Amino acid sequence: MEILVCGGAGYIGSHMVRLLAEQGHVVVTFDNLSTGHAEAVQWGEVVVGDVLDAAAVDAVLSRRNFDAVLHFAARSLVGESVSLPYDYYRSNVAGSLMLVSAMQRHGVEKLIFSSSAAVFGSSAVPIVDENQPLLPINPYGRSKLMVEQMLADAAEAYGLRSVCLRYFNAAGASRDARIGESHACETHLIPNVLRSMLGAAAPLQVFGDDYATPDGTCIRDYVHVEDLADAHLRALHFLEQAPGAHAFNLGNGQGFSVRQVIDAASRVVGRPVPYQVAPRRSGDPEILVASSRKAREVLGWDARWTELDGIIESAWRWHRAQPW
Ligand code: UDP
Repeated sequence: MEILVCGGAGYIGSHMVRLLAEQGHVVVTFDNLSTGHAEAVQWGEVVVGDVLDAAAVDAVLSRRNFDAVLHFAARSLVGESVSLPYDYYRSNVAGSLMLVSAMQRHGVEKLIFSSSAAVFGSSAVPIVDENQPLLPINPYGRSKLMVEQMLADAAEAYGLRSVCLRYFNAAGASRDARIGESHACETHLIPNVLRSMLGAAAPLQVFGDDYATPDGTCIRDYVHVEDLADAHLRALHFLEQAPGAHAFNLGNGQGFSVRQVIDAASRVVGRPVPYQVAPRRSGDPEILVASSRKAREVLGWDARWTELDGIIESAWRWHRAQPW
């Protein structure tokens, strides 16, 4: 297949580009490099441009007869979305609208969209399946939900085929440490733990230890980035025989607390993780764990990286090398 990957220079996008190329697909990355890294695109062609630039999107879509578009390009910091909502609605909602309109002009009828567990907000149940209410609690989550809704409308009106993949906590790096997570402004737990152990970041703060969980810290579902890439590939094949708009939750189905992540990191690195307990971070749900049953039943997908230590070890090898 010929695939356009918007945001292919980012964390999850670059693992996707690699998997597609390794599977023999023709892949073109389209990325404005605002948060992505040119070094991450080591497979296929790369075109620098922005999804908000209609002429640039038209130009890249004219290069080939693309079978599908995978859309990772977005802003993704929850806290930043609260202070800069226009930026988030512009990049994530208007950007997606520009992209799907251009796809329509070019006759590209399949899209895989990077959605997020943030569309559920603070779920009332600990294990979240696709039937849970969609009640995002911040502009980032709302921007993802708006696009999901737009894609459902587009399926009805124009026959656009789409899959929204709602990632829970993407984590880890490629098995060979060639690509991994690298954000100028890092807010995520695992990279913060590892960067603080490398002395590349301030000592870790644990945001709240008074939650109603067994050890008082928040519980999340850490899903390996290579497993996420695999889910996209399966979704791509699924769309060949499935019209309509679809959504799947993707997690490894197990919850780990912040303290369990810290303990696993100290086992992997071989020394204790220094940290201090800080106040709760606003907007953090207590527990968020995916039910990936639908993805298993419909896509035949299962997370292969289920051990927390293994996920953290892959991230550690990447962070220690610090190539970018
Ligand atoms: N967290 C923390 N210290 C950090 C970063 C995150 O205690 O430096 C906690 C955060 O409060 C949440 C969990 O780790 O309970 C996962 O946060 P992350 O930002 O990685 O992902 P989120 O679930 O917010 O998307």
